[in-house]
Amino acid sequence: MTNKKEFLKEVILWTSLFVVFVLAPLFVAVIGHQEAYRGFWIEFGVALGFIGIAMMGLQFVLTARFKNVAAPIGTDSLLNFHRQAGYVAYFFILGHVIVLITADSEFLYFFDPGVNAPRAVALVSALIMLTMLVVFTIWREKLRIPYEWWRLSHGLFAFLIIFIGLSHMLMVGFYISELWQQVLWIFLVGFAMLLLIHIRVINPYKLSKKPYKTTGVWQEAKKTWTLEIEPDNHSGFDFLAGQFAWLTIGESPFSINQHPFSFSSSADVKGRYQFTIKELGDFTSSIKSIEAGTPIYMEGPYGAFTLNPEPREAFFVIGGIGITPVISMLRTLKDRNDNRKMTLIYGNPDTESIAFREELKELEQKLNFNVVHVVENPPDDWTGYEGFITEEILKTYIPEDVTGTDFYVCGPEPMMDMAEMTLRDWQVPVFKLKSERFNIV
Ligand SMILES: Cc1cc2nc3c(=O)[nH]c(=O)nc-3n(C[C@H](O)[C@H](O)[C@H](O)COP(=O)(O)OP(=O)(O)OC[C@H]3O[C@@H](n4cnc5c(N)ncnc54)[C@H](O)[C@@H]3O)c2cc1C
Repeated sequence: MTNKKEFLKEVILWTSLFVVFVLAPLFVAVIGHQEAYRGFWIEFGVALGFIGIAMMGLQFVLTARFKNVAAPIGTDSLLNFHRQAGYVAYFFILGHVIVLITADSEFLYFFDPGVNAPRAVALVSALIMLTMLVVFTIWREKLRIPYEWWRLSHGLFAFLIIFIGLSHMLMVGFYISELWQQVLWIFLVGFAMLLLIHIRVINPYKLSKKPYKTTGVWQEAKKTWTLEIEPDNHSGFDFLAGQFAWLTIGESPFSINQHPFSFSSSADVKGRYQFTIKELGDFTSSIKSIEAGTPIYMEGPYGAFTLNPEPREAFFVIGGIGITPVISMLRTLKDRNDNRKMTLIYGNPDTESIAFREELKELEQKLNFNVVHVVENPPDDWTGYEGFITEEILKTYIPEDVTGTDFYVCGPEPMMDMAEMTLRDWQVPVFKLKSERFNIV
């Protein structure tokens, strides 16, 4: 986003669209509604249900990897919003049940297997699955649920919940008694469910037609490897420096083992893509053993953590493997002889973990660029900063004219929180600050 007006326009547009889509079912419900008024709390309880199911449906849109939706907001922010909206939708749906039963205990018959066993089982299952969605999302790591299994169950539960929700609405028929209202709901909910099928089935099928193959893997720093791939009989795609792609390694693009990685190569080098990957868990620890020729499926490009096309000053606050989108930016700017002023504050646990250390030194000579290393456990002969990146270090290097500079933050959570807070305190406008969080849920 290059200027404030454009940024505000995007924020207002997407927020308004979200609110309109969430509230639209209420307006649709009252059109042609002829049944008698049943008292405030009952109508309120029903409204909570309509809003809850609309929010659930929109969750599928937020995670459908639409580039136009993600671009202005950023994938990590979008997924963060998806998570928060999910919690709110949960409370709307729970509120729907609690308010209706409290207003009139007769509503308990929906859960009575003696009245209608399949309905009771479906509704209870939907509530259990909804609760599991929330619990597993909040406590996935504590519960030691592998990310891939969490992601698979997340999609499956969401699919079943929205299907049961729609069936429940159609069977109750209240507020959607008109045929056009029923068709509209089936169409909208069906569309939301199709989006999930699109990501899990159609996208992988398309990827299977455009495979890539590994050309090499080499060590970049301690526990950090660069993977290079090239298109296998097609022309690949272009990306912007700072963007990322989803990679699936092995024989099938339908595998649930699909992981996001930022491009570390220059956006101007066509037909070869590099990713620099830090060992963290099972998947990232397997990168070093990938052999040349191994098939890879790459979906992308995604992400809004990209360079300003205008040559404005850039200030990077980076920790550890967060360097990958930045090295792609620097390599691209070198390829373009771009002479904008840049400062990189780069934190690492030790000097062996500093990826691209020599190349960064060379780039200091070739670009209008300066690196400030901050090392937590440096060797005895270290003359640079020791410890973590702090507010004081940022204060020393931050440009005087913060409004004339673009800020980029990527790294471990605590470093990002500190950097974002500090930069905002120093009146860096929100639309000049780009962040990329690698640990998305
Ligand atoms: C936009 C983006 C860009 C990234 N770029 C890089 C990069 O350039 N280099 C790099 O080393 N790492 C990058 N990551 C992080 C990388 O995706 C995770 O480290 C990796 O997926 C961990 O997988 P694992 O099985 O080895 O570890 P695990 O121990 O299974 O997972 C560790 C954490 O990584 C995240 N994670 C795990 N699996 C997935 C998945 N399938 N999809 C999304 N997140 C997952 C979860 O937050 C999890 O808690 C990026 C992440 C994002 C979101």
